[in-house]
Amino acid sequence: MKWSSNLQPQTESIMIPSFDYKTPKTLQEACDLLQEAHGKAKIIAGGTDLVIGLRNGDSNPSLLIDITSLKELRRIEETDETLSVGAAVTHSEIASSPLVRQYGIVLSKAASEIGSPQIRNLGTIGGNIVNGSPAADTLPPLIVLDAIGKVISRDRERNVPVAQLVKGPYETSLKPSEILVGVSFKKLSQDIRSGFIRLARREAMAIARMSIALLLQVQEGKIQNIRIAPGAILPTPQGLSDVEEFLKGKSPDEEVLRIASRKVSEAMIRRSGIRPSAPYKAPVVEALFLRAMRRALEGQDETGRS
Ligand SMILES: Cc1cc2nc3c(=O)[nH]c(=O)nc-3n(C[C@H](O)[C@H](O)[C@H](O)COP(=O)(O)OP(=O)(O)OC[C@H]3O[C@@H](n4cnc5c(N)ncnc54)[C@H](O)[C@@H]3O)c2cc1C
Repeated sequence: MKWSSNLQPQTESIMIPSFDYKTPKTLQEACDLLQEAHGKAKIIAGGTDLVIGLRNGDSNPSLLIDITSLKELRRIEETDETLSVGAAVTHSEIASSPLVRQYGIVLSKAASEIGSPQIRNLGTIGGNIVNGSPAADTLPPLIVLDAIGKVISRDRERNVPVAQLVKGPYETSLKPSEILVGVSFKKLSQDIRSGFIRLARREAMAIARMSIALLLQVQEGKIQNIRIAPGAILPTPQGLSDVEEFLKGKSPDEEVLRIASRKVSEAMIRRSGIRPSAPYKAPVVEALFLRAMRRALEGQDETGRS
């Protein structure tokens, strides 16, 4: 579904063309159904994007495959080094998961700020990624976490960085026969701080106009590692490696942060092309970056990590 900047309820009467609806019991069965539909089926998870897309006529599938009862897609699991989140895990479940809070707080924070409680209870991380909106709130955190998506079809399985899953606005590299099973990332160590800030028209129910996710590691007063990903201002989610390189090895004092914030807005303008809104957006994105950095430096987003 393509999001408008303001999600208004629709008032005209709407006809959704008829379709078949199946609830497979296993992942294999879901893959078989998808393969046999030859591109005419769509996966449905929470339906918060898809149903609006069906109403708008964006797609016209003959079959919907409901993946919400597949247990492989509903788990949040840890190994010694990684945390995995199933594609059908909802934003509410992510926001309330002690594991995600401990090892991926930046994702937890973003999930807790999505839409409204109803949307968070239905909407899933997989749907958020595969819908591919430039304003998808989980994408910047997943980029800074270097998250890898696990994708499966009847015949093969592949692991692909989330940054490469989204190819363009509302476009992913997923084939019609593929299902996103989940994402995994390296657990954040305790000395890594994070910051996530989003700016929307209204507090609730509005999609992000801009957001910044970042991870930061400071040792002996110098930035050792930093990852920065803006959301909603670039056509596809991506890190800002040039700004990250500039900041590495420097003390995060006000002067350095001010120069870095200008580099963030310059990168944003360079990558998205000069637009009429650039003069407005540049100072806002600089201020957003500075706030996210200060939050990270002060450890404001770390509550709940033991
Ligand atoms: C009122 C409202 C407010 C919203 N606010 C926000 C917000 O603040 N921030 C934000 O980021 N989003 C927001 N959204 C968008 C939406 O809720 C999220 O993108 C949500 O995460 C989508 O998940 P879903 O499970 O509902 O996806 P669905 O609608 O079920 O699916 C979306 C797309 O992904 C595909 N898909 C889903 N799961 C898989 C899978 N595992 N494998 C392959 N394909 C899959 C579907 O076929 C479909 O094309 C809002 C939506 C509404 C209606």
